[in-house]
Amino acid sequence: MNQASTHTDLVDIAIIGAGPGGLSAAHALANRGFTVGVFEQAQVLRPIGAALGLAEQGYAALNDISPALSQQVRAQATNPKRQLLMRPNGEVLFADESPMAGTSFTWLGWYNLQACLYKALPDSAQLNCDHSLIEFVSEPDTPIRLKFHNQADRFARVLVGADGYHSVVRKQTVGDGPPLYTGTMTWRGVLPRQALAPLADPFIEGAGFQLVVGNQKNFWMKDAGADQIAWGGTAPQANPEKSESALKTVLQVFEGWPPIVQQMIRATDPLSIIETGVFDREPVTQWGDGQCVTLLGDAAHPIRPALGKGTTLAFEDAVTLANVLDGVTLTDRSAVSAALSSYEHQRIEVTAPLQKKAREQGLASHADDRAEQLKRGFEAVLANRRK
Ligand SMILES: Cc1cc2nc3c(=O)[nH]c(=O)nc-3n(C[C@H](O)[C@H](O)[C@H](O)COP(=O)(O)OP(=O)(O)OC[C@H]3O[C@@H](n4cnc5c(N)ncnc54)[C@H](O)[C@@H]3O)c2cc1C
Repeated sequence: MNQASTHTDLVDIAIIGAGPGGLSAAHALANRGFTVGVFEQAQVLRPIGAALGLAEQGYAALNDISPALSQQVRAQATNPKRQLLMRPNGEVLFADESPMAGTSFTWLGWYNLQACLYKALPDSAQLNCDHSLIEFVSEPDTPIRLKFHNQADRFARVLVGADGYHSVVRKQTVGDGPPLYTGTMTWRGVLPRQALAPLADPFIEGAGFQLVVGNQKNFWMKDAGADQIAWGGTAPQANPEKSESALKTVLQVFEGWPPIVQQMIRATDPLSIIETGVFDREPVTQWGDGQCVTLLGDAAHPIRPALGKGTTLAFEDAVTLANVLDGVTLTDRSAVSAALSSYEHQRIEVTAPLQKKAREQGLASHADDRAEQLKRGFEAVLANRRK
């Protein structure tokens, strides 16, 4: 059967993935009058992840989607005030005001962002958890059929793959194989601030950021707002295979580092620690099928975290996608196709150069004199500010 079997099976736009990209797109598209189904593989949304940086550009994009939403997200975030930079042997290289203090740059918990976007979803956008997309079938003149693991098929006029690095939608549209592993593994966690009280500098004076750099590894701890501290570590690893126990592995990787590093890791719920490789891809000239399927966020332009722009780019994708689809009749395949190719063209022009830049900067983050480079950079910012 090619047709949607009942009216309730069919939405105007299906979005795969309830990360920041998928949920922000759900807002943007629902605000333009479309019915939206968001399909997420997780059984429930739960507090995982660490913290992410969001600067003015990210809030500006959210503001374009909804000023109220942008304010709600900003209320969850914090601007770092103090910064500490250390070597793994405990030598302090920098302890001062944060170079980001007083700017519009903020940190916020990944889950706090996700929860904020989810709770504010308009009625015309429905989140369906426990829906892991296996494949889609798109044929002329019929809605797209979405096939999920252990769930009934669903139907949509337009499909947006916001399903991250390992996108299933991308596998069918671009078909460029798995993402490219960069040789770096990451571990991330988040914990309530009280779990570590009393905290030492820089956290003692409010929003703080502590960075320990050396031996081609990085470990950072940051105030993530909403009384949470988030941490993350990166280290070179030959392959992106996950270990049996992320807790055990990350403790080993950072063994002998300053005591706060080990304390932070041990105080984290082991089940909430995320262990993932860092991936990217070569930019491509088309994301979708040229008809009624496209990609958004990390699925479209996976970017190394070096520039802290992943979330901002996803929000901007959402704004552009809603703009091009505004007023389009979704049963008109050629109008949809023209709108999606305009979206892809506009966004690839912005994201492709950034993917390349992030790759270059990502390589630099494991340089032997990285700690010295960072110290000089922080001092230069403060010297400029204090002139
Ligand atoms: C759990 C998690 C934690 C993260 N933590 C951080 C962090 O601490 N700091 C940071 O800078 N960045 C983090 N990121 C990455 C950051 O959120 C993204 O770079 C950026 O926000 C773009 O988001 P996205 O929505 O495009 O992709 P993602 O955030 O990767 O979201 C993709 C979503 O799609 C879902 N999905 C994947 N495949 C399927 C499928 N087949 N069917 C249905 N659903 C599917 C995933 O479960 C996920 O919810 C995290 C991502 C995830 C998934």
